[in-house]
Amino acid sequence: YYEQIKQTERLKISGQLAAAVAHEIRNPLTVVKGFLELYEKDTSVSDDIKRHYSLMIGELNSAEYVISQLLSVAKPNKDQEMETVNVKNVLQSVTDLLHSYGLLHDNNIDLNVTEECFIAANTIEFKQLLINIIKNAMEASEIGDSVKITADMKNDFVEIKVIDYGHGMSEAEVGSLGTPFYSLKSKGTGLGMMICYNIAEKYKGTIDVQSSKGKGTTVTIRFPSKNNTIWSKGNSYIKK
Ligand code: ADP
Ligand code: MG
Repeated sequence: YYEQIKQTERLKISGQLAAAVAHEIRNPLTVVKGFLELYEKDTSVSDDIKRHYSLMIGELNSAEYVISQLLSVAKPNKDQEMETVNVKNVLQSVTDLLHSYGLLHDNNIDLNVTEECFIAANTIEFKQLLINIIKNAMEASEIGDSVKITADMKNDFVEIKVIDYGHGMSEAEVGSLGTPFYSLKSKGTGLGMMICYNIAEKYKGTIDVQSSKGKGTTVTIRFPSKNNTIWSKGNSYIKK
């Protein structure tokens, strides 16, 4: 329980820090990118230099992407539309969406949802959470391995499991999940899990990670079921 409080505190502080930094950096970046785009169009400039401009613009775009990710958690929209989310349908559409990505890695997504389950959340945010977690599972997997996804009702909660048989994590690595910029990937942002924890917390859900180095990882996502949630003034409550 103490661990959970620490995690919540850490997320709150990192969110505030992220908002401040992102805000201060976004404007100067936009100005620099604007000028570069102007210079890139200059016909008197050599191809070599144009290539440099377009590289610079590409790097600024990556920086902008990181900032937009940070702002999405730092400034969650309190009035985000709440909907009844059909978990089975959303899992199906996310799986379809990731299919092209899955094909690239040659991973098969094995989706198994036996019953209809509903939660109260914003669909876009819930999708974002699922995509981040399923992408991690695919990225950890070997080519050809499948990622298993299940969803069931467990008492008043909807329980989704994303299971991979990839490289797994040590205890310390699992403990670092959700820390901003924590990534062991050469092209990772290290923001994915932070965003997931924030979204789950907003809807009174939880994310549990069990992992074994070299064997794989099971991520268990629990959200209160629709009938178990009260949504009021931008906050969700679990019915007693
Ligand atoms: P990113 O994917 O950009 O690196 P994340 O926050 O999504 O950032 O994940 C942080 C790190 O946690 C990853 O770089 C990876 O090392 C580890 N990780 C996350 N999910 C898994 C998984 N299913 N299996 C193994 N490692 C994982
Ligand atoms: Mg990720």
